[in-house]
Amino acid sequence: MKRSNSEQLFETAKQYLPGGVNSPVRAFKSVDGAPLFIKKGDGVNIWDEDDNQFIDFCCSWGPLILGHNNPNVREKVIETLHNGSSFGAPTRLENELAALVVENNPVIDKIRFCSSGTEAVMSALRLARGYSGKNKIVKFEGCYHGHVDAMLVKAGSGLVTFGESTSAGIPEGYTNETLVLPLNDLDAVKACFAEWGHDIACVIIEPIPANNGLLLQDKKFLQGLRELCTENNILLFFDEVISGFRVAFGGASEYYGITPDIVSYGKIIGGGLPVGAYGARKEIMACVAPDGPVYQAGTLSGNPVAMAAGIAQLEECIKDGFYEDQEERTQFFVNKINAHAKEKGFLFEMFTIGSIFWMAFSDKLAIRRADEIDGDMTSFKDLYGNLLENGVYVGPSGYEVGFVSQAHTKEILAEAADKFCAALDATFA
Ligand code: PLP
Repeated sequence: MKRSNSEQLFETAKQYLPGGVNSPVRAFKSVDGAPLFIKKGDGVNIWDEDDNQFIDFCCSWGPLILGHNNPNVREKVIETLHNGSSFGAPTRLENELAALVVENNPVIDKIRFCSSGTEAVMSALRLARGYSGKNKIVKFEGCYHGHVDAMLVKAGSGLVTFGESTSAGIPEGYTNETLVLPLNDLDAVKACFAEWGHDIACVIIEPIPANNGLLLQDKKFLQGLRELCTENNILLFFDEVISGFRVAFGGASEYYGITPDIVSYGKIIGGGLPVGAYGARKEIMACVAPDGPVYQAGTLSGNPVAMAAGIAQLEECIKDGFYEDQEERTQFFVNKINAHAKEKGFLFEMFTIGSIFWMAFSDKLAIRRADEIDGDMTSFKDLYGNLLENGVYVGPSGYEVGFVSQAHTKEILAEAADKFCAALDATFA
């Protein structure tokens, strides 16, 4: 595969951008070679600057649930742009996207738009603290909540660990109100609440943890967490930046039938443009400025072009059968690959929920915690090279999940599964 144009562009990028990228995982650090520079996407396909064509399962890390360059999204964006790109004043489109989300989601009464998932989480954590008057935040090991200072924390050993940041530049004081617990362990939650419950503002969790592999939780764990939070008067915060509008219109909360107190969204809600959002019941949202004392603002918040993209995308997602169809096609794809791996005796299993999948080099039937992931990511590096050679693009890290879009028809998925199987054969040869 020719990669010289991408290689050249990467050399130039490194002169001007740290590591040559604007977000670290794009740098291909955990796989071989220079990152591919993408020049175009359409439907399931992307093309790089060397004119290599790939079936894409990264889908911009999740936002593109309708695939690349969806005609309805594109038209709505262009139509909106004809009237200008930003006003810093309210527009009709903010009402439209807010109504579309709130009217179809029993969990939230009001929503605030911002420009990224990180911003949504950061603002909603401030809201949780402002509403409750308490300081501590509980998070789970292996859950990613954007690059919010207090959330860039890795758990140490022991049941409850005071936060120690995994990034330089974060003062201790920013993370020592963060408590980190293992996933899927209600006893750890109980012990933590017994000691600190009086000062815990909220428990934040990716209800479908999808940033450190796909660590699917027992529904009983999520239900138990809901009950414990209620009993202890602690807010439950579902970070649905990935799972929102992905596994159901109402996200994991609808999928599992569990009601959180605060929710954050990102990715799909913006139709491929920069949008984040958070929402909650009326009395909690009443604390947000200008109604209440929790300040949060943004020059480009609720940007009309981004709202237009979100509306066009969500209008498609809300149609009857959309999520059933997504899940059915994803199962078809994953089952084909898993059957091949099993027949050949490869140590490989794809995990899936909704239209999300993750490639694990393991024969475990379930992996629910970060420390249960088998460490061998060299196999991923080999698989990655073989996938590219076979015309398949996924996120360049073995800890990232893949996404199936509406554009991935059964025919395309059958073709992609054959390519995956060929890549697995070459990897395990
Ligand atoms: N929360 C979760 C669950 C995410 O997966 C991400 C990003 O991947 C974020 C928050 C941060 O979103 P953004 O990258 O838009 O800032």
